[in-house]
Amino acid sequence: MADPADVANDYADQFLERALVAHSQAAAQVQAGSLECEDCDAVIPQARRTALPFCSTCVDCQSIREMRL
Ligand SMILES: [Zn+2]
Repeated sequence: MADPADVANDYADQFLERALVAHSQAAAQVQAGSLECEDCDAVIPQARRTALPFCSTCVDCQSIREMRL
């Protein structure tokens, strides 16, 4: 029979491994967001990209796009 401490260690290792994978995937998704606005090529501020990781336009161009809808 397995030592409960070994079993607990295995669970902890698996949990840590999954947490690291989830973290690196989240970081990769943030980096997938555009650095520059699709419409005017202005650099999208980091705060906007952090708040909206998949935004592809700056605030001004996004407003214009929404007005067109
Ligand atoms: Zn723009």
